[in-house]
Order: sequence, then C-alpha cells, then structure tokens
Amino acid sequence: MKGRLACLISLVAVTACADIVPPAQREGYEYRQILGTDTLSFKWDPSLLPVKIWIADDSPLRSHLITAISRWEQAFVYGEFRATLVSDSSRADIIVRNAPPTSGAGLRLAAFASQCLGETTYQLGSAPKTLQLPWRVHVWPASNPNATGIQDCYRITVTHELGHALGIINANHAGALPTDVMYRDPVADGLSERDRNTIERLYHSRTTLTAVPRP
Ligand SMILES: [Zn+2]
Repeated sequence: MKGRLACLISLVAVTACADIVPPAQREGYEYRQILGTDTLSFKWDPSLLPVKIWIADDSPLRSHLITAISRWEQAFVYGEFRATLVSDSSRADIIVRNAPPTSGAGLRLAAFASQCLGETTYQLGSAPKTLQLPWRVHVWPASNPNATGIQDCYRITVTHELGHALGIINANHAGALPTDVMYRDPVADGLSERDRNTIERLYHSRTTLTAVPRP
C-alpha cells in the first residue's frame, strides 16, 4: 500500500488543495506560478546542463534519486534535461537531503504523507527575474525510517520533488490528475503521458526566470 502524499504550498498564501481541473487536460497541466502580478516560470538553460545534483553517498534516497533523474531525462527526445551527481555540495545546482529543512527562506513546494514528507525550495535572486541557485529538495521519514512502504514513498516523492526542480513550480499543482506524478497528492510511481507532455511544453516555451549560478 503506497502512502498518500499531499502536496501543498507553505509560503504562498492561496487556497491549497482547491484546484480547478480543466476538462480533458490530456495535453498536460499548469507549470507556472502566479505570484502577485508576476508569472514565474523556469527551465534549465542548455548552458547549465548537465545539472549538478548532490546527495550524500549513504543517503537512503540515493537510488530513488537516480531513478527520478532517469525518469525525467527519458521524458525528453532531444536531451533538454540532463543531470549528473556531484560529490561537492558547494558546487551543486540541486541539493537533496534525507532530512527536514532547517531554513525558512525561499518559496516552498511541500508534500506530506503517512510514511515520508517532501519539500522543494527555491529562492528568487536579488536581481529581477532571477532564481538564485541552488534548489533544495528535502524528503524525510514522517516518523519511522523503516516504516512499511517508505521506499515507495521515497521513490514517488523524490520523483515528484525533482519535477518541481525541473520547473513545474505551480504550487497548487493546478490541473494535475491522480494519474500524474505531479498530482498534489501523488500516488503514481512514474511519469504519465501528461507529465511528459507538460515538461516538454515547458522546455519549448519562453520562461521568465534565469538561474543565477552560485557564487
Ligand atoms: Zn508538489
């Protein structure tokens, strides 16, 4: 039995879990985030590929992260997203930890479940239309790190959170369905056709945020 994950926003004050699902959204769902009068959208520029991801060598999430990277890379035909694991966290574009977040800063995309919880955080840069790297992904046990089903929870949640770090930043998960890994309450153990369509659409669209490398 897989854990039920509920994903919600924790910083942006809009009504969570009250999505309006447009009819017949076969082609995909919303990936942009509306913040005040700003429309935020993000994708990895080809010049930043492969995206450098750090995770501890002994992290219980490591194998699930490798699966998640492969799932998202395979959603593309022309290699629009590629990632590699790096050993130095200070050089990483995305940092993945099997622990709760310690900082309250940034824009958060959170998920919680009976066995594990997840949160992805990004920060806007000091210059307009910028996103300051790194992204931070946290996925950690709700209580018992050996709970039945926690490996499924980790695999689904890491795939979901990495989807946020690829640029699916709509905090309401608007339009995502239960069959999509990016559903706010994800149970799908892998990408749906709609997940693939959405990320393809994002990577072939103009975006508003430019990543600022780490100092
Ligand atoms: Zn989410």
